[in-house]
Amino acid sequence: MSVLRIINGKVHDPVNNIDGRIKDIFVRDGKIVESVPEDSPTIDASGMVVLPGGVDIHCHIAGHKVNMARKFQPEDHRKDAQLRVGELRSGTGGVVPSTFTTGYRYATLGYTTAMEAAVPPMSARHTLEEFHDTPVIDKGFYVLLANNIFLNQLLEKGRMEEFREAVAWWLNASKAYAIKLVNPGGDEPWKGRKNSNVDQLDQKISGFDLTPRKIIKALIDVSNDLGLPHPAHIHCNNLGHSGNYATTLDTMRTAEGRRVHITHIQFHSYGGKLGEKPTSKAAEIAEYINHHPNITADVGQVMFGNATIMTGDAPLTWLLRNMTHKKWINADTECESGCGILPFAYQGHVYTHALQWAVGLELFLLSKDPWRMVLSTDHPNGGSFENYPRLIRLLMDREFRNEEARKVNQKAIANTKLLDIDREMTMQEIAIITRAGPARILGLTDKGQLGVGADADITIYDENENREEMFNAARYVVKSGNIFIDNHEFREDRHGRIYHVAPDYDPAVEDTLRPFFEDYYTIQFDNYAVDDSYLGDHETVKPYPARFEEAKVSMT
Ligand SMILES: [Zn+2]
Repeated sequence: MSVLRIINGKVHDPVNNIDGRIKDIFVRDGKIVESVPEDSPTIDASGMVVLPGGVDIHCHIAGHKVNMARKFQPEDHRKDAQLRVGELRSGTGGVVPSTFTTGYRYATLGYTTAMEAAVPPMSARHTLEEFHDTPVIDKGFYVLLANNIFLNQLLEKGRMEEFREAVAWWLNASKAYAIKLVNPGGDEPWKGRKNSNVDQLDQKISGFDLTPRKIIKALIDVSNDLGLPHPAHIHCNNLGHSGNYATTLDTMRTAEGRRVHITHIQFHSYGGKLGEKPTSKAAEIAEYINHHPNITADVGQVMFGNATIMTGDAPLTWLLRNMTHKKWINADTECESGCGILPFAYQGHVYTHALQWAVGLELFLLSKDPWRMVLSTDHPNGGSFENYPRLIRLLMDREFRNEEARKVNQKAIANTKLLDIDREMTMQEIAIITRAGPARILGLTDKGQLGVGADADITIYDENENREEMFNAARYVVKSGNIFIDNHEFREDRHGRIYHVAPDYDPAVEDTLRPFFEDYYTIQFDNYAVDDSYLGDHETVKPYPARFEEAKVSMT
């Protein structure tokens, strides 16, 4: 469909300062436009709320580890098979849904973009192939570079020019969208030597003349120098450990004013002593971020029920497996990352789980700038993305939140400020933390907004006092100008677009890389890089400064 009118809807479009005003939206050829002829196809959105399509800045939906997690939990799929409906394909759901179920269910919630958050370069090809099998949503991925032996060796020798060229080469070779750091410097030694994970930023990394801080600083610098649309995306050291908020603050200080994104920050906001029960340091973390506009974060909210831990932080999964005694996977991706997978369930009566749940909510509610503390559950680590509607209700409805808080471990709740917080997020704030904010942090200026020229990714919900019910099922979902969900029914099954970056680099760096690959990789250097044919329908996003000047959008 090339033209569309959406009339009489109550529009929330924070980028364009539209806060619940009745406004008509016009679409032509996949973009929002000034007007279209009156006899164009029309959705009458009277009594409905119109928002830009949702943007998930951090989830795990495609690639090697996700596929291993699927195969690993057949019992989870058996409970939740999605049968073929009309032209739509069948699939399985559960905590780690199949590719097509992932696409359909994101769309059902009104999400039109989702970013896969952790891909080793070697898994890039697999990830892109799964992307092509994930319908409706646009997507991209972040490539793991903070436990890369070749890059570590350049860093320890201070060969910074070559480091920068090699990072740019790796972004091109993998077709990634951004640089991801997971447990910087800790996984690589841990894979080979007992007790060799790191827990301090200035600690020497076993086997290298290098510290985590040097890796963090270098990758923040390169992200900024290359002008990547999204800054370095950091999973800090010491995830999940009591007292880790100090490491998180230290990591944020290391940015020294440069842009950086701290991911699933809930898992990094704990006080207490190592080995003892955690306490909440959400207030301290929120306070720091409130005063440092260069820092953005997503929460990584824990939701009660089933989850699957899947992370490049392999030592963490090993620790958790000692606690849960469940099946788990540990995978070593050659010279470039580790990986752990473990089925998990968050339970309200368990002190630590209840504390994690409350810490996440505190972070949302104590952060003054919703543009910089955005919504995620780190799907499926903190719980499935299918929990987003319930999470939105917790943020918008204080009475409901307090009722839920009274059902869980009370010692944990007493160790937080949750019950003292009156704030209820407004619809405009929800539009920011689920759409406008993540899009801005990603540098995807055509998303998360409904201004003229923006992508026509639009969701329309029936207004409902119960916000969980409201956000559970969009009445209409328009993606790139096509109506995918029409009055609650799927009509379309087209594929989304892939977003990636392609920064310039000096090809001479390949002469340094080739012998390293010949010596240490199982894959031939010439077979390693993913070629353009894997991209399909895609957009190569331009460097950040140029892009943002064009769009005249500034970070808040
Ligand atoms: Zn994650």
